[in-house]
Amino acid sequence: MAFKTPVSSIDELQSLFARLGIPADYPTTSGLPFHPEPDRLVDAGHDMFQRPVQLTPVALRAWQAMQAAAARDGITLQLISAFRSVAYQADLIKRKLASGRTLEDVLAYTAAPGFSEHHTGRAIDIGTPGSKPLETEFDSTAAYAWLTANAEDYGFLLSYPEGGTGMICYEPWHWCYHETIDAHLLDKTEFKE
Ligand SMILES: [Zn+2]
Repeated sequence: MAFKTPVSSIDELQSLFARLGIPADYPTTSGLPFHPEPDRLVDAGHDMFQRPVQLTPVALRAWQAMQAAAARDGITLQLISAFRSVAYQADLIKRKLASGRTLEDVLAYTAAPGFSEHHTGRAIDIGTPGSKPLETEFDSTAAYAWLTANAEDYGFLLSYPEGGTGMICYEPWHWCYHETIDAHLLDKTEFKE
């Protein structure tokens, strides 16, 4: 699939949506905001599966500061996933469809290309030793308790809280760095990302 990178407008996604069978009105019906890809990404080392990961420069600095602070408190925070491109998200959905799942089922758990917060290069999935990656049980770990108490000091907010509105279910592992966190605190509507 050929993409102009970064993908910066919804219009660029329509032919991709058509190929995947995603309804053209998804941008309005999903309740999810469009997330353009960033202009600049930097290498953020490797995730817990030794895959190379990327974040925006400011998000990387904030993540490293938060990880170090947690370590000083005896908490190990591991990076499970960071930046994902629109093309990667499209492949992810294609693979799930190829495994026999319906589009409706797939889209209940996976945002359509262009609508994953991971496209921003500021969203990260966090794990900790002894807890299965990307499972709700993460919220009973000391790492989650530490994040709840401290993540905001480093600019990270939980994107999909329990009982939250929107198409994405509760994800205690998914945190997003907000550069203008003070402004976001004033405008609660910005949290529905
Ligand atoms: Zn995530």
